Amino acid sequence: MADKFPQLSLTANDVYKLFEEPPFGLIEFGRRVSTKLDAFSLAVHTGLINITVPPTCICGITMRLVQRTGKAENAYQGFEWQCERSLNGQRCRHALTITSGSFFTDVRLPWMNVWDLCLHWFFRTPVIAAGNQVGCGKDAALDWYSFCRQVCYDVVSEMDTCIGGEGLHVEIDETHIFKRKYHRGRQLAAEHVWVFGGICRESKEAFLQVVPDRTGQTLWPIIQQRIHPGTTIMTDSARVYASLHQASRGGFVHYAVNHRRNFVDPNDANIHTNTVERQWGLLKGMLTGCMDEERLEMYLGEYVYRRQFFQAFNTMEKRTSGKFFKIFLGHVKEMFPGI
Ligand SMILES: [Zn+2]
Repeated sequence: MADKFPQLSLTANDVYKLFEEPPFGLIEFGRRVSTKLDAFSLAVHTGLINITVPPTCICGITMRLVQRTGKAENAYQGFEWQCERSLNGQRCRHALTITSGSFFTDVRLPWMNVWDLCLHWFFRTPVIAAGNQVGCGKDAALDWYSFCRQVCYDVVSEMDTCIGGEGLHVEIDETHIFKRKYHRGRQLAAEHVWVFGGICRESKEAFLQVVPDRTGQTLWPIIQQRIHPGTTIMTDSARVYASLHQASRGGFVHYAVNHRRNFVDPNDANIHTNTVERQWGLLKGMLTGCMDEERLEMYLGEYVYRRQFFQAFNTMEKRTSGKFFKIFLGHVKEMFPGI
């Protein structure tokens, strides 16, 4: 008996063109992916939903894709994996939905909305506006935005980025990123969070992390873990950095600019930390409103991710950005491999 295969409304080639042939944008996307079946087809062709590699049932038998016609109207067209083992008149009948363990597990929204929200997140539409435009409301938009952010965070955490190297220049700095005000008893308390980061001038690679304080005990191990030996490091004149040239601190070539006097060394225009400070500005622009530390970590992850995979922030050309969205979906697939 032949497996019934879903009728897909988009071909693999349609999906290839969607991402690789400019222009890419919300309007173009809406034109090419406009029905429930399109949304499903896209999930299949991007690998977010698996309908080709049958999982193995708990009983050890390869499962089969079947369509429950009574449920053919649902977002995934009623398809599920079924075990049809029959032994001594006993049937296994074990079934798995094709969304198990995928990005679309337990999704209550129409899948079209999910795609639209992911795209709005990608193009950095403010979340409230995204909720309104998609028509799904603010909560669903917030949910999917943080879902996308979580993917970025997971990818960045696993990268364990180490930047710089022989002949390269890395600027490092700390910044006071936000104050969360909250009521403790009757007092309004403020919470201070320090973020430590570095950026390589040549490769543009960056790392960022929340740190409890700015002491050497905290920063030195991070510097050695995140920056390749042989790198030239630029800092401000904070005392904590004064020993970076010592072998026990990594033996880096180190230059410091005294910010109390100048922002660029008057004798050497190369000695400054302007690159990393510009990044703080961009980062702070992205962090709106109050957030707790966990959410802050997610935002930092998203920030680093966008730098790394979407070619930084302001330079991403929208028309040709389909390939970047495709990269993101590749990461989604890694994080949610399905059954
Ligand atoms: Zn079975």
